[in-house]
Amino acid sequence: MPELPEVETVVRDLRPLAVGRIIRAVRSGKKKLRTPWKPAWNARIAGMRIEGIRRRGKWIIVELASPNLSPLGRARRSDAASIGTAGEGRLGDSTDDPSPGLRTASAVRKPPSPQREEGSLRLLVHLGMTGRFSTVAHEPAAHRHLVLTLDDGAEIHFFDPRRFGSITLHESETDLQKHFQRMRLGPEPLDLRLVPFCVAVINTTRNLKAILLDQQIVAGLGNIYVNESCHLAKVHPSRRGNTLTQSECRRLVQSIKDVIRKAIQRRGTTLADEGYLGGGFQKRLRAYDRAGQPCRGCSTSLIERIVISGRATYFCPTCQPR
Ligand SMILES: [Zn+2]
Repeated sequence: MPELPEVETVVRDLRPLAVGRIIRAVRSGKKKLRTPWKPAWNARIAGMRIEGIRRRGKWIIVELASPNLSPLGRARRSDAASIGTAGEGRLGDSTDDPSPGLRTASAVRKPPSPQREEGSLRLLVHLGMTGRFSTVAHEPAAHRHLVLTLDDGAEIHFFDPRRFGSITLHESETDLQKHFQRMRLGPEPLDLRLVPFCVAVINTTRNLKAILLDQQIVAGLGNIYVNESCHLAKVHPSRRGNTLTQSECRRLVQSIKDVIRKAIQRRGTTLADEGYLGGGFQKRLRAYDRAGQPCRGCSTSLIERIVISGRATYFCPTCQPR
């Protein structure tokens, strides 16, 4: 299941292909996604220019504007990839260090001006469990939910065999922000602030695993990176929030940031698959899915596996005492 680093990797792979391009044709599949794509939306997005692609939590946001109103249309750049860093607070994809861009996306981003709102739309994509983008028609048509043909002839396919993913259309940036507010999406992991995070943790009797999986506490973490963060912070994931000390909370915040930064640098944990966007290198994980193998922290104990809140949980009994 894709988590923040995997989604960020997809965003970075999509950007150079799609940003600056006009959508020439749209085809949608017949089977319904978790939140169904409306066939009427095909005509709404055809003819729009892709202004930018960014991420929030595990969500992908595709910014669309009418070509005659689009800032890119007025000042078109030859290098589509460089557009990512132009304009207001856009995520940069040319740097090796992901953190400045990641911060920009959620924190420094200016609200759109009224002129930008006019004629602009947003596509909001969630990959669910098996959602993937590809430039070629890899999978059976039944698994293909949306195909965008761009003005350079390239095609972007969205597949989702298990259909837990979704693509929805939002009328404006404001509309999208309201949507995020309604779901009370928490801060990005790299923007996590110590005091509000500690207050949230210490004031609950829920276990750490459940706290960190809660997208309202921190956006974008899933089972893999919660296991990894707890191992690096040396705290047991079954500990109740109200039993954590201030220094443990501090370690946890630092560990979450370290784990996420490294994972983005390694392009997530999914295996590379030719033709698909996203994916990357072999797993290089500390705890997740390593039951019975030596702990990378103490190298004396073996990683153990238990189930907490219905999810597989990996920990080192020495480094992460209960
Ligand atoms: Zn250990």
